[in-house]
Amino acid sequence: MTIKAVVWGENVHEQTNKVVADIYPDGMHGAIAAALNADKGITATTATLQEPEHGLTGERLADTDVLLWWGHAAHGDVSDEVVERVAEAVWSGMGLILLHSAHFAKPFKRLMGTPCNLTWREAGERERLWVTTRGHPIAKGLPDHFELENEEMYGEPFGVPEPLETVFVSWFQGGEVFRSGLTYRRGLGNIFYFRPGHETYPTYHDANVQTVLKNAVHWAHNEQRLTGDVNAAPNVPVDAALEPIEERGPRLHQDGEEGYR
Ligand code: ZN
Repeated sequence: MTIKAVVWGENVHEQTNKVVADIYPDGMHGAIAAALNADKGITATTATLQEPEHGLTGERLADTDVLLWWGHAAHGDVSDEVVERVAEAVWSGMGLILLHSAHFAKPFKRLMGTPCNLTWREAGERERLWVTTRGHPIAKGLPDHFELENEEMYGEPFGVPEPLETVFVSWFQGGEVFRSGLTYRRGLGNIFYFRPGHETYPTYHDANVQTVLKNAVHWAHNEQRLTGDVNAAPNVPVDAALEPIEERGPRLHQDGEEGYR
């Protein structure tokens, strides 16, 4: 059994910007999926914003082990219904990997609950990523540090909650630093944010970046997956208590009544 990964791509600049189209003729999502499929333990397919329900129906998400998300220019075009569906899939155990400008993607902001803002500069400067947690599964096979010759700068402060783990920090030629590989857990879902990947540079063709993405898919995969309603909040009747109890005092709710939301 291989891990079923879906690479979600906004697929806007690949269609509207010649620089991006030349670097990623099959789309960024296509390049990322191809890199993942080089790993015999992963089966990666793609989904895009333009497909019905953005390619992310409930059925598709139920059959997805790890979802990767790249978005930038059209975060606002992602339907709130799909965002909620993605959040619920994560709570039930689907892995989620957010790439680069997906720091502002609706599902990431929904799951973090914070502004997820940062400073930035588009100047093609050198980025040096340092592994901060040696031996972490996401950093497996990587040198202690590696460089991307041209990248967009993202700088601290990064408006996210304190992560479970910081796997990478980045240094930029202009002097800024950034926590560029962060892990979270929401419900049963493993979440990884990975910074590099500005669309006008060939970042997803870089061998070290591809190693990170493959490692991250393996790390994020949780074989435990809840089925049923992750939002369920059942009212347990007195006669179903594990130990016999007698009802006492006044109460607000009738037997079997739904609680307030
Ligand atoms: Zn960017």
